[in-house]
Amino acid sequence: MASPVAASGRPQYRMLIDGAWVEAAGGATFESENPYLGSAWAEIPRAGSEDVERAVSAAHKAFKSPAWAGLTPSARGLLLCRLAERIAEEAERLAEIETRDNGKLITEMRAQLRYIPQWFHYFGGLADKVEGRVIPIDKPGMINFTREEPLGVVVAITPWNSPLMLATWKLAPALAAGNTIVWKPSEYSSVSALEFGKLFEEVGFPPGVVNIVTGFGSEIGEALVTHPRVAKVAFTGGDVTGQRVYESAARHIKPVTLELGGKSANIVFSDAELDNAVRGVVSGIFAATGQTCIAGSRALVQRSIHDEFVEKLVALGRTARMGDPLLDTTQVGPITTRPQFAKVLDYVEVAKTEGATCVLGGGKAERPECGNGWFVEPTVFTNVTPSMRIAQEEVFGPVLSIIPFDDEDEAVAIANNTQYGLAAGVWTQSIRTAFELSEKLEAGTVWVNTYRATSYLSPFGGYKRSGIGRESGLTAIREYLQEKSVWIDTIGQVANPFVQR
Ligand code: NAD
Repeated sequence: MASPVAASGRPQYRMLIDGAWVEAAGGATFESENPYLGSAWAEIPRAGSEDVERAVSAAHKAFKSPAWAGLTPSARGLLLCRLAERIAEEAERLAEIETRDNGKLITEMRAQLRYIPQWFHYFGGLADKVEGRVIPIDKPGMINFTREEPLGVVVAITPWNSPLMLATWKLAPALAAGNTIVWKPSEYSSVSALEFGKLFEEVGFPPGVVNIVTGFGSEIGEALVTHPRVAKVAFTGGDVTGQRVYESAARHIKPVTLELGGKSANIVFSDAELDNAVRGVVSGIFAATGQTCIAGSRALVQRSIHDEFVEKLVALGRTARMGDPLLDTTQVGPITTRPQFAKVLDYVEVAKTEGATCVLGGGKAERPECGNGWFVEPTVFTNVTPSMRIAQEEVFGPVLSIIPFDDEDEAVAIANNTQYGLAAGVWTQSIRTAFELSEKLEAGTVWVNTYRATSYLSPFGGYKRSGIGRESGLTAIREYLQEKSVWIDTIGQVANPFVQR
């Protein structure tokens, strides 16, 4: 990456197209801000439609090139495994960049960077285990078998909250399957993507196989999604943007994977280990400052333990250490973007206006250790009813709504009563309740006596408005393949040309 320093004195990044580090064709740039300092820290190319064209053409050319298409699946897999090793070597540096760029805790980003190589190892290993089938076809003298083929150019569009992890969930299976990539990271967290991009080059991915285009979704999103040479769109972000992406892709009959938002319920039964459940609920909503799609933003608490639970939760929430996300000791960091900061504070006001009772936090954090950063106090509302906006809409911040329930049926009814279905948590000592709820909850993931566990081995995705398709696990590679049915006639005679065989 040339021009490491811009006239402003900040690092000046370039984006990756066809193996070259380039500026936007129009020369435009934008600033990336550090949410803890509340100021710009890097300059990024602001891509336009010409850059989209360049990147998609490069990816399309690479898809057809002998350097990529000619690789055996084993050789492709090896590249992914080599990449995993390089990421592991660079994990600490990349984690620090993510924290500067998106304000998430260094402890969280470090953990994610430690996990990311697992996805590349796993899908690298899977690359040469994708097999077709031989069908015992019902026609004499005919062989029928299937081939699993890559789709072509995959556009990956990612959000700011876990930039490299969420991109990895797309890139690892898509590349293992033999596709090529145009990746557009969030305009709020592009720096780590550009640093990550260097590693693909270093381990020997051919030019054009992975391209990174930086810029604003509102300016280049539509061009990427609708480009005729793009075969598939893999999107993670908000449901409103996801809907727009889906509609645009539908006009061009393109497959999509959508990983969208949630309003996940953490359901605490009276027989739960209470202290454990309190810690679980806190980890679900405050640990990532609530900026995670799987935030357990609703705690449904059985009425008989409601008051005791709230007391313990508030006591623990009050101890949360806020401040510099680069410090290992910080527990709650800033909100990543200025608009999101305003949105979270708006929701706090909405909840108050709706009649919910604020029992913790409830506004901007003014603590000295928060400096000029965009901090919101860990906030808890009680007296929330299921129809309130605070119980229905995704806040994406450290704001928890507590809703009481009487019995299992009511808990399930409240939990399922949102348009989302990403995840749910159940806290109980009863194996019967655990099984029953795992079946009845409309969510792509159900955790029992734990929360926020994910793995490269296990499928992840949403029910209802939380998304389409699955990431991670064996089946995820199918999202990036298409099945071809091949028929071979071994008799060698076309019997009656006017009758279908
Ligand atoms: P967002 O929807 O605003 O943006 C996501 C990405 O879409 C960004 O790269 C953005 O530039 C791009 N984009 C914006 N407009 C576009 C358009 N018209 N066409 C194509 N792309 C466009 O989301 P965000 O604020 O960055 O992220 C937060 C959201 O992401 C939350 O709703 C959260 O729940 C969701 N999320 C979901 C998952 C999951 O796996 N289900 C994981 C993390 C985050």
